[in-house]
Amino acid sequence: RCAALIAAVLLAGVSGCAGDDIDAVAAPDPGTIGIALPTKDSARWIADGDNMVKQFEALGYKADLQYADNDVGTQQDQLDAMIAAGDRALVIGSIDGTQLKSQLQDAHDKGIPVISYDRLIRESANVDYYASFDNFKVGVLQGRTIANHLNLAKAKRPYRMELFAGSADDNNARFFFNGAMSVLNPYLKNGTLKVPSGQTQFAKVTTQQWDGKVAAARMEKLIKANDATLDAVLSPYDGISRGIIETLQKYKKKVPVVTGQDAELDSVKLINQGVQTETVYKDTRELAKVTVQMTDKVLSGETPDINDTKTYANGVKVVPAFLLQPVSVEKANLKTVLIDGGYYKESDLA
Ligand code: BGC
Repeated sequence: RCAALIAAVLLAGVSGCAGDDIDAVAAPDPGTIGIALPTKDSARWIADGDNMVKQFEALGYKADLQYADNDVGTQQDQLDAMIAAGDRALVIGSIDGTQLKSQLQDAHDKGIPVISYDRLIRESANVDYYASFDNFKVGVLQGRTIANHLNLAKAKRPYRMELFAGSADDNNARFFFNGAMSVLNPYLKNGTLKVPSGQTQFAKVTTQQWDGKVAAARMEKLIKANDATLDAVLSPYDGISRGIIETLQKYKKKVPVVTGQDAELDSVKLINQGVQTETVYKDTRELAKVTVQMTDKVLSGETPDINDTKTYANGVKVVPAFLLQPVSVEKANLKTVLIDGGYYKESDLA
């Protein structure tokens, strides 16, 4: 009975249980934050997880970080377990943004706030906030890289380009693609750009689970169907870019302008060597900072900072968001942005 009393007293934050040796009452436990991320396959998600854990712990929280190996069922189970364990808030980088409705309902019923991390969770009202980058802008930067390198505005001949998009179940994939196409479409319309495969629709060019091997297999098919030299390949993510580049090299093809995203070390090295043209850098340390502050404010009953209330409609509601700015990185600004910015060390590039 006294143990129960001690617990009650601790919760109430008042001291004392006569007869027991409690001199001071510990500060109330801020509790555990459940962090559910999609995969360890790519370096960015590992950095995201590490950054968040560090920053949550610095504020006194515990963190329960789980990766789901890109498997929707695993992610659902992990969320169920976090909710059952009484985690105070959930930060979720979803695999399939439409497949978490029942977990989110459960969280909502238990008063657990949900932050959608990097990728928008769809078709649920129970998403409180969204922390991400300006995802349309990511695509715009990729499209501009192609337009600039081929000097499309002054092109004297048509250029050949193939298009790759990300995983269709990730809300970001369409934003990236639409952003890029907002730059490239005028050149497709006026004939400056041609797509030899004719595959220009999002649904035709997606890459299941953002898998570089899937992209490599599609690139191989494209080469076999049409032997023409390409001038550019729109790629949404470094892992896909490397799959494309390796396949082109395997078939002894010239590596054309190739875009990317995430500033993954292997791609940054290729950019430094002049093989991959570009990557879109998104500082995951900043995204972690925004997310941790957002979560902490929600749990403290304050209103978190947001800077977008109109872009991210998830099918049920528009999710208030804080969007960071992505940065295009090429060989010319690689050192200033990534090395001087402390994301990598010069020796990492060797
Ligand atoms: C992220 C990208 C990442 C991709 C593949 C997207 O949702 O925004 O940064 O390249 O997933 O992991």
